[in-house]
Amino acid sequence: MANSKYEYVRHFELADSLLPSTWLVVRIDGRGFHRFSQSHNFQKPNDRRSIELMNRCAIEVMKDIKDIILAYGESDEYSFIIPKTSNLYSRRASKISSTVVSLFASNFVMHWSEYFREDQLLYAPCFDSRTVCYPNDKILRDYLSWRQADCHINNLFNTTFWALVLKGGMTEIEAENKLKGTLSKDKNEILFTQYDINYNNIDAIYRKGSTIIRKKTEVSTISPRSGELITRTKLIPTAVYDDIIGQEFWDAHPELLEE
Ligand code: ATP
Ligand code: ATP
Ligand code: MG
Ligand code: MG
Ligand code: MG
Ligand code: MG
Ligand code: MG
Repeated sequence: MANSKYEYVRHFELADSLLPSTWLVVRIDGRGFHRFSQSHNFQKPNDRRSIELMNRCAIEVMKDIKDIILAYGESDEYSFIIPKTSNLYSRRASKISSTVVSLFASNFVMHWSEYFREDQLLYAPCFDSRTVCYPNDKILRDYLSWRQADCHINNLFNTTFWALVLKGGMTEIEAENKLKGTLSKDKNEILFTQYDINYNNIDAIYRKGSTIIRKKTEVSTISPRSGELITRTKLIPTAVYDDIIGQEFWDAHPELLEE
């Protein structure tokens, strides 16, 4: 098969190697999930089933692609962090982006019914993907802080918006107008005084998004040979709902930024 007269066309494939010694971040995002969430009757402001399915997909991606050290997800997006030293797919951008997003999407379909039960998947969901290099730890942390700040801003807005609509009886247009130009403290105030909601008491999974780390976990199995119970410590991708903007998280997980 080699050396056919057609083989020259391979040279039209451009090299897309990502810069060495930089953090790689693959971010996937649902395509048209505003509509997808409506078609599938997502609960507003936050459909827990969708968040848990997204987290499951990220965990499955991390089980398969061992180079990923951490993933952060909110809404219909997930970011996967690959260390500076990784040589995954020779750091070819399209290989990395396409493999991660395809694994994510197929898991989304495969595990849908475990989370959505009798609510059928009505059409094939789709995600886009990009891979970006970040040259140092500070910029990587700023990237993650940017996503978590986005989660906070959107969640505070959505929580207030849907309180006005679902509890306050406003139309979506009225709620939109009411919130135009408001600051965080105004939204907190509306939630607290009109709906008796203390924003800080809302589940962290909604306020902080989900971070998947490889947690040391004791796993017990029964040896097929001796029948003995064997306990091993394994690194299992696990969701936490921590603040990842502050220093505390990084102090608690020093291995993440180690070279
Ligand atoms: P694009 O194709 O440009 O990404 P989009 O419609 O997916 O467009 P996004 O900015 O990605 O827009 O926003 C995702 C939307 O999906 C949110 O605005 C929200 O309406 C919906 N959504 C995602 N996750 C949830 C969830 N867990 N609960 C409720 N709604 C959700
Ligand atoms: P990579 O991950 O590098 O793509 P691969 O195992 O997918 O590795 P390919 O060079 O893409 O390797 O080859 C695909 C292989 O899948 C074929 O060699 C063949 O073994 C198998 N395959 C694909 N389609 C069929 C098919 N229709 N019937 C039987 N085997 C198939
Ligand atoms: Mg988008
Ligand atoms: Mg989207
Ligand atoms: Mg999005
Ligand atoms: Mg191949
Ligand atoms: Mg192949």
